[in-house]
Amino acid sequence: MRFILDTSAVLSGLPLPQEGELLLPPLVERELGHAWARRGLEYLKEVRLAVREPSRAAIEAVRAKCRGTGDDARLSEADLEVLALALETSGTILTDDYSIQNTASVLGLPYKPVSQKGIREVFAWTYRCTGCRKLFDQNLPECPVCGAELKSHRARR
Ligand SMILES: [Zn+2]
Repeated sequence: MRFILDTSAVLSGLPLPQEGELLLPPLVERELGHAWARRGLEYLKEVRLAVREPSRAAIEAVRAKCRGTGDDARLSEADLEVLALALETSGTILTDDYSIQNTASVLGLPYKPVSQKGIREVFAWTYRCTGCRKLFDQNLPECPVCGAELKSHRARR
């Protein structure tokens, strides 16, 4: 089993699959920056995680197919790499990003949301960025998106 991780899957702080190979496109790795190391996942790289770049052809194939779905404008270059890598390696995409999920459906690529209800309800606390207001399931020294401070925030059950 092969899984492609997108930024939302890693930042969710939720457990990743226990088995199988994990693939990360280079642009997602770059997007994650320090958040990656802070999640303590560096060790996974030595075990069963590989940074792999999809071919130009796969990226162009994804771009061509999602043209006109309305999602093409919302997809970042990193998102395109996620989709292209899934196309090329027949992996399952792990993502909570709606545009990626939608495009994956259009392309017939398997995907799995990371934040299943059962898991999410376990978290009593979340952390909200004081800058961009994004919510995180774990405390980080700073927001990986905008760099502002995080404050704990009681999650709604
Ligand atoms: Zn922020």
